[in-house]
Amino acid sequence: RRSSDLVTRIVMQQNLRRALEGNGLFLHYQPKINLSTGLLAGLEALVRWHDPELGMIPPSSFIPLAEETGLIESLGEWVLRTACAQNKSWQDAGLPPAVIAVNLSARQFRQKDLAGMIGQILAETGLEPRYLELEITESVIMHNVEKVSAILDELKRMGVSLTMDDFGTGYSSLSSLRQFPFDKIKIDQSFVRDITCDPHSAAIARTIIVMAHSLHLEVIAEGVETEGQLNYLKEQKCDVMQGYLFSEPVPAYAFETMLRENSRRKSEIDAVSISEKTILIVDDEESVLDAIGGMLAMEGYRVLAAASADDGFEMLAGNRVSVVVSDQRMPAMSGTVFLGRVKELYPDTVRILMTGHADMESIMEAINNGAIFKILQKPLHADFLRGKIEEAFKFHELISWKRQSDQKSVQ
Ligand code: C2E
Ligand code: MG
Ligand code: MG
Repeated sequence: RRSSDLVTRIVMQQNLRRALEGNGLFLHYQPKINLSTGLLAGLEALVRWHDPELGMIPPSSFIPLAEETGLIESLGEWVLRTACAQNKSWQDAGLPPAVIAVNLSARQFRQKDLAGMIGQILAETGLEPRYLELEITESVIMHNVEKVSAILDELKRMGVSLTMDDFGTGYSSLSSLRQFPFDKIKIDQSFVRDITCDPHSAAIARTIIVMAHSLHLEVIAEGVETEGQLNYLKEQKCDVMQGYLFSEPVPAYAFETMLRENSRRKSEIDAVSISEKTILIVDDEESVLDAIGGMLAMEGYRVLAAASADDGFEMLAGNRVSVVVSDQRMPAMSGTVFLGRVKELYPDTVRILMTGHADMESIMEAINNGAIFKILQKPLHADFLRGKIEEAFKFHELISWKRQSDQKSVQ
């Protein structure tokens, strides 16, 4: 068994070397999304190997091999050069500039003049250093602290940004990060995976976010796959997310489409002033409509007020509404039933229920059906309401962006 393992390894090693010299390696790119705008925050380059005999081989099996054999030095250099050249060529094509992240492995920190090599590649490809980010795992900084921190300082001086990858899997503490010039940290996907169901993972993620922010580090969550995880992370003020929920790593041509779509979205958002942000309020009590409607109108929102569910449907049919706020207790139709129907008719709306009484059963059902984004308890304080409405509009931007990108990927 041992010897056949050895044979496999030798064959793999030869094949990997050949792939590196030929055209067997390529890069995929995965978007990172800013959680407060829904816009692109950058991208990560991830290496792929297609072997003619063995098929697709995941990096988790060949990166360790490349590290052991030393092949990682030339592989890493190839990845950097390819990623920088690709990023520059997008910029040259007139696409808005994005920061590209490249992973570095421990072994590369032992090679001669890593920072010099990176500077050379930037000069050769013409990519400005601020558009390159390097991702480094915890294990790298745990060994040979002095040398690594000298290299990182040098890279930082060049203007490249630095991200701690897979944070939480090693044994370093957040405060030890202060010895290194990191700009961002990535919460490991193992915590993100269970964030909505395991209190322990949730607590770790929450703590990482709070502490990282106090150290002025930006926080990225990796491996986000569900809306639930996304909501939780947004709630905890995580800055950026990456994961299959938005997109898997894709080939360059597909990423280019995302870049174009993103710049279109960005100009759209810039163009939509707050006065075009439309909110519908449904309540049978006129005094509530007046008070809330007046306050939100002063904020600059376009406010539609309806005294019944029927009037509400009428207004929804004639306007592009993003956020719907409804009272629960209304004579003809309850708020939960109303919002449930709004969900079916206008799934892109963000729906909020206001209630003074706890009618647990119908509220629970509405939540479970996804009919409701938030429940607000009456009486409502102006500042509180204002904050919640702002959140609702941000969330609306995010979901409509996601829906558009889903539609794109289906086509
Ligand atoms: P990483 O840097 O932590 O990259 C994130 C990995 O998670 C990627 O796997 C990515 O495809 C995957 N991923 C992204 N979103 C999701 C998600 O929503 N759910 C799940 N389950 N996974 C998600 P990949 O591409 O297989 O790479 C694995 C690891 O291999 C990387 O982990 C990185 O450590 C290493 N690697 C990849 N490319 C390079 C490279 O060019 N150089 C070096 N040194 N290492 C690399
Ligand atoms: Mg990474
Ligand atoms: Mg990672």
